[in-house]
Amino acid sequence: MNFNSLEQIIACPCCKKPLLKNNEEYLCSDDSCDSSYPVYHGIPILINPHNDLFEQKDFEQKEDIFFKTYKNPVIGFLKRIQPDITFNNISEKNYLNISELIKKNSNNRILILGGSVDGVGIKHLKNILKDEDLLIETDVSYGPNTTIICDAHEIPFADNSFDLIIAQAVLEHVLDPFKCVNEMNRVLKNGGLIYAETPFMQQVHGGKYDFLRFTDIGHRRMFRNFREIQRGVIAGAASSLTWSLKYFLTSFANSKKVDRILSYTGTFLFFWVKYFDIILNKTKGSIDAASGLYFLGRKEDGYLLSDKELLNSYSGFRYSSEK
Ligand SMILES: [Zn+2]
Repeated sequence: MNFNSLEQIIACPCCKKPLLKNNEEYLCSDDSCDSSYPVYHGIPILINPHNDLFEQKDFEQKEDIFFKTYKNPVIGFLKRIQPDITFNNISEKNYLNISELIKKNSNNRILILGGSVDGVGIKHLKNILKDEDLLIETDVSYGPNTTIICDAHEIPFADNSFDLIIAQAVLEHVLDPFKCVNEMNRVLKNGGLIYAETPFMQQVHGGKYDFLRFTDIGHRRMFRNFREIQRGVIAGAASSLTWSLKYFLTSFANSKKVDRILSYTGTFLFFWVKYFDIILNKTKGSIDAASGLYFLGRKEDGYLLSDKELLNSYSGFRYSSEK
C-alpha cells in the first residue's frame, strides 16, 4: 500500500470514525453509526445519508449537477469563444507562492474542495507535486478531476489529515461557509496551509447554488483561527464593473431565451473593461470594490485573531469616522 493513501485518512462524514472498504461500498466502522457509502463510476460517494440537500442516489448517473453542459451547438460554440469577464492575474502568482511553501515537504497531502474542474492557476501547484504526494479533489459534481463526492459541510476525512486545503470560488456556493471553514480547520494539520478565493462584488453565477458574498474584513474573520500569510484582491473593480454592465443588460430579461441573448451580448460588448484591472489589481483602493478576494493562512494551534486586530487590519480608505 502506498504510504500516503486515501484509505489512511478517509472517515465517515457523519461520525468521523474510520471507513472500511467492503466490495463496492464503504462502511462506517462504528456500529452505532452504521452508515454506508456507495462507489459509483469508481468514485466514493461520501455524502451523509441524512444530508438535507444532496442524496447519495443523486450521483448514480454520471452527470453534472452544478456545471450544466450545453447540448445546443450554437450555445456550445458561443461558450467556447466567449472571453472571460474577470481579469485575474493574481491566482497564478498565489499558486506559485503556495508551491514554493510546500515543495520542500515530502508526502504532502492536499485537499481541493470544489475541485471537479481546474481553477485558475492550479496547474502551477499540480506541476510541482511528486509521486508520493496525495492530491484529493472533491466536489458535489462529477468532473474530470473528481476523486470523491462529498459535501464541504461534512468533510469525510480524519482530523489533522492535510498539509494544504484549497477552496477556490467555493465558499459562496455553500449554505454555511463558517461551518465549512471549521471542517477545513479540523482536517488540516497544525502548520498546514489554507487558501481560499471568494467573490465580493460579483453577481449571481451559480444559479440557485449561490448564497453569500464577503468584504475583505468579513472574509478575513471567517479565517480568524488561521495566521495570515497574505490576503488581498483576486480581481479588482474593473472586473466588478464588467460583471455589472453585463448583468445590467440581463436584468432586462423576462425569459430564459432573452437572458441568454443579453448575456452573450453583454460579454462581447463589455469584456474589455476588465483590462483596467491590469492597474486596479494592484491599488489599495481596490480592496473596497474588488470582484474577488483571497486569503492564504497557516493553522497554528491556539491562534485566534481578535476582532480588534481584525478591524485594525482594514487596509481600505472608507473610514466611518473621518478625522
Ligand atoms: Zn459513522
